[in-house]
This record gives sequence, structure tokens and C-alpha cells, in this order.
Amino acid sequence: MKKLFLYLLIIILYFAYSCKRDIGMETRNNLDKNHLLKVINKDTQIFSKVKAPLGEIIESLPTYENLIALTFDACEYKKASYFDTTVLNYLIKEKIPVTIFVSGKFAVRNSEKLKCISQYDFIEIENHSLNHNNHTEKLTIKELENEVLENDRIIKEITGRNTKFFRFPAGNYNNKSLEVLKNLKYPVIHWTFVSGDYDKHMTPQKLYNKVISKISSGCILIFHINGRGYGTREALPYIIDYIRNNNYRIVKLEDVFE
Ligand SMILES: [Zn+2]
Repeated sequence: MKKLFLYLLIIILYFAYSCKRDIGMETRNNLDKNHLLKVINKDTQIFSKVKAPLGEIIESLPTYENLIALTFDACEYKKASYFDTTVLNYLIKEKIPVTIFVSGKFAVRNSEKLKCISQYDFIEIENHSLNHNNHTEKLTIKELENEVLENDRIIKEITGRNTKFFRFPAGNYNNKSLEVLKNLKYPVIHWTFVSGDYDKHMTPQKLYNKVISKISSGCILIFHINGRGYGTREALPYIIDYIRNNNYRIVKLEDVFE
């Protein structure tokens, strides 16, 4: 009887041990799977976003390897301006992630098209002020606040989206303007180097050469999509080819910053 009891005890202990071992292996498998998922996510989309700093000018992406942000300005200043449909159609056809900084007057004049492109989640629409005043540093605090908030209201009304980031018209600002944006909780995102496509003397070849000679990981590229990007529509497909062939990944600003 005692022997039988001993055998039973040994059998029970053996099963208990093998169950524990299986559970242990399962946990390890889960860990491996989770690790793998992390790696896959890093390659496909989600690296953890970085909180965009307030009260300073952001000129590049955090140092995730091989990321490039493609941004366009859609400004209207003195003359009526319209979307460069060649550039826009190319971006849509190729589904290229892009961030467009839109000014209020431009948004109202191009409201149909703006609404239309807001259906694409690879197109991000951000804030480039209401009137595109080239010297926001000369505005009062109230005036600058209105430039930002009124443009956000207009863009929201047209697209259903709020803007999250701001870019100063013509890149002009002072400490006071930065402070206004900081208080409104708008990170200010500019560019790593100017492409110079606003220059009437810019040719597609010159634009291409300039961009590819300066491009590097973490770059924020800037072009114009308001019909005043000289050489842009011809050079852009070649620039995109260069970016892709050199294993850079194009991202929107909102993919990286929050
Ligand atoms: Zn502009």
C-alpha cells in the first residue's frame, strides 16, 4: 500500500513539473513573439513618438534612423494662390506621406480641394497662420494669437481636423512670437535647409542637385505647393526616387512628434 502511494506521489510530482515546464516555455515563446512584434513595428510604423518641445524652433526629426519628413507650404500672401495640381496629384498617386502647412487665405480659396485631400490619412494638414504676414514678430500678442487660432478654426471647419503644429510665415519670428506659440501649446516646426524653390531662377536640375547634396537622416524638407515652387513639380519625382533608393523612409511630422 505504501509503495502504491509512493508511486502515485512520484507520478503526480512528474506531471506537476512537466506542466510548469510547458507554462515556462509558453511564457518564453510569448516573450519572443513580443520582441519580434516590437522589431516589426519599428520597421513598419510605430516607433514611440517624441513630445515636440514648445518654445523653440524644431529643425529636424529625432534621430530615428533614415527618416525624412517631406513638407510643403501652401501660402497665400498678396496674390491669389492655388494648389499646384501636378505636385498634389503626384503625391496622391504615389501615396507619399506629406505634411502641408496651410495659411488661412489659401485654405478658404482652395477649400474644395483642401477638403478633398483631407480624406487621405497620408496627408497631414498643419497651421501656417491666417494671413501669412511675413513679419509675425511685428504683430501684437493678440494679433498673433488670432493668426494661429482663426486659421485653426478655418481648417477645422473645412477638413474636420485640428492643426497641431505651426510654421512661421517666411520663417520670421522673435522671442515674443515664440512665447505666444508656446502659450497656445503649438510646437513650431521649420526645416533643416531651404530648398530654395521659391526662387524664380531655380531650375529643376539645380533644385534636385541642391536637395540631394544636403539630404541626411532626420531632415525636414521644405517645398512650395502653392504654384510658387519653381522647378518643384519636375524635380520632385526624381528627389523621391533618390530618397527611396537610398533607403530613407518618408514620414509625416505627426508620425514622429506629438
Ligand atoms: Zn509660407
